[in-house]
Amino acid sequence: MKTIALKFGGSSLASAAQFEKVRSIIERDPARRYVVASAPGKRNNADTKVTDLLYLCYELAVLRENFESALTKIRSRFQDIITELGIEFDLDPEIETIRNHLLASPSRDYLASRGEYLNSKILAAYLGYDFVDPATCIFFTDNGRFNAEKTNYVLKAILADKERAVIAGFYGALPDGSVKTFTRGGSDVSGAIVARAVGADVYENWTDVSGMLVTDPRIVEKPKPIKRITYRELRELSYMGASVLHEDAVFSVRKANIPINIRNTNAPEDEGTWIVPHQSEYDRPGMITGIAGRKGFSSLFVEKSMMNQEVGFAAKLLQIIAAYGISFEHVPSGIDTMSVIVSASDLEAHRDEVMKDIEMSLKPDTVSVSDNIALIAVVGHGMARSKGIAARIFSAIAKADINIRMIDQGSSELNIIIGVDEEDYEKAICAIYDELKDGIK
Ligand code: ASP
Repeated sequence: MKTIALKFGGSSLASAAQFEKVRSIIERDPARRYVVASAPGKRNNADTKVTDLLYLCYELAVLRENFESALTKIRSRFQDIITELGIEFDLDPEIETIRNHLLASPSRDYLASRGEYLNSKILAAYLGYDFVDPATCIFFTDNGRFNAEKTNYVLKAILADKERAVIAGFYGALPDGSVKTFTRGGSDVSGAIVARAVGADVYENWTDVSGMLVTDPRIVEKPKPIKRITYRELRELSYMGASVLHEDAVFSVRKANIPINIRNTNAPEDEGTWIVPHQSEYDRPGMITGIAGRKGFSSLFVEKSMMNQEVGFAAKLLQIIAAYGISFEHVPSGIDTMSVIVSASDLEAHRDEVMKDIEMSLKPDTVSVSDNIALIAVVGHGMARSKGIAARIFSAIAKADINIRMIDQGSSELNIIIGVDEEDYEKAICAIYDELKDGIK
């Protein structure tokens, strides 16, 4: 039988009306058996997430200030859901446990996890499913790293006994049994862990958008949706700022070759975006998958005549940067010149020392820094071995009267990175999208 693991985000479970949508989505396909739930999110723009209210309670409790009003808000968020759904659920003992914890010696992670814990228990009661507390089956090591293999072993065994279950997202336990959370948005990670443990055919990630878009809708009006993207393409785009999934969510499902389908709880008929393990470049020749970018880079330029004959010059330059904890993004080079593109804020803290060290140990003819550089990544397996895409991108940028500061093509031919002045960033993205949009299916 086909098995689907699903995760519903905070906005998908923010109110009783959203719970009803979630139930009808689950009931539409009997394969939807293992459900991971977030804490109630925002019902509207002015609303506060339950997780944020829990963090607030913690902060107040640590300062020995009164947290009752925040706790009352949390209580009423859950009570409203319970009452409107008309289910039996005894909330008061749960709130009492949280209060007692706040009054004793509160743990930040334990408190933050209570949103997922309670929402999942309520959802399990509503669906008539078993509830699984991840403190018993998702593990971290002593140094706080996720323990993937132990978790998979134990969680697999626990879920094998259950036909259907709701598992709380966002947390697990340290070796001493105390609760530890993932970073914010971590229910995405829990969903992927569950998908791997049950050997799911698909990991459905239900949220409030119909998947990913080819580029940033704040820059390009109504960009096309991305229908299919590989894990690697996703990684490239996420690194450059596209966000829809928690970065660590891909790890578990990628290991098990499970595709992720991003779906919209408020528009369940939309197909959403498929994140797949592989996609041949021959599938979509000449097509790009996405365009993303970021501002905030600086370029360190070094020139020295006969640099090409000095063995180890590049290594020394990179070592100087590394010694200040600065990592580099790209290193375009010529015969006697090298540039290193780094994050402007990382460089700022050590700019003078870095320049001095370069002068002293490399004795260059020139060393200088240009600031305010934006990087744009055009990503797609479909670009590999297809002719003419780069030419179209560059002539579109030239036609928009934008000067290109840097070009780098990844060796996998999966991406082309273009550096432009920050003031040209939005215009360049629009020019690239307009040029290539008709080819995107
Ligand atoms: N509730 C947590 C947060 O707000 C985790 C999640 O929703 O994934 O970050």
